[in-house]
Amino acid sequence: MSDSYICLVPIDPYVVPSPESRSVIIAAVRRLFPDSDLIDDVVSSGIQFIGCGSNLDSITCCHCKAVISDGAWGDLMSIDYKDSQQGFLLQAYQMPCCGTTARLCDLKYDFDIGFARFCIRIRNTNRLSNLPSAIAAIRTIFGIDIKPVYRHV
Ligand SMILES: [Zn+2]
Repeated sequence: MSDSYICLVPIDPYVVPSPESRSVIIAAVRRLFPDSDLIDDVVSSGIQFIGCGSNLDSITCCHCKAVISDGAWGDLMSIDYKDSQQGFLLQAYQMPCCGTTARLCDLKYDFDIGFARFCIRIRNTNRLSNLPSAIAAIRTIFGIDIKPVYRHV
């Protein structure tokens, strides 16, 4: 059996809500996804890559839309990753396709991924129709813009 996760990730990679806010958010998310077998949040000292697992199909340049090869992207990921404490630095690098600069979080991923210090994990839910409510509630109450990352492992 494989697991499906929805990770709710702040669009701003640096955002981490306060512990009080996090417990309110988690309680709200648990109410919206009662069938999930695991809901928790993860906070890291540095920025982590929140991938979509086998859902990742393509990565394209945010400027010229050229496909970035797995090899070129892997090299950028290695260069940008500092260590387990600091995670990714999200520095701007020259793109191999068109020579403009971009950060790893600026590239276009299909399915979408995230770079973040904070995420909420929802495992194995069938209540996908509740996602917009969860995202709207977090934006309204905490002023944090969140996007879903669909992770299949
Ligand atoms: Zn390009």
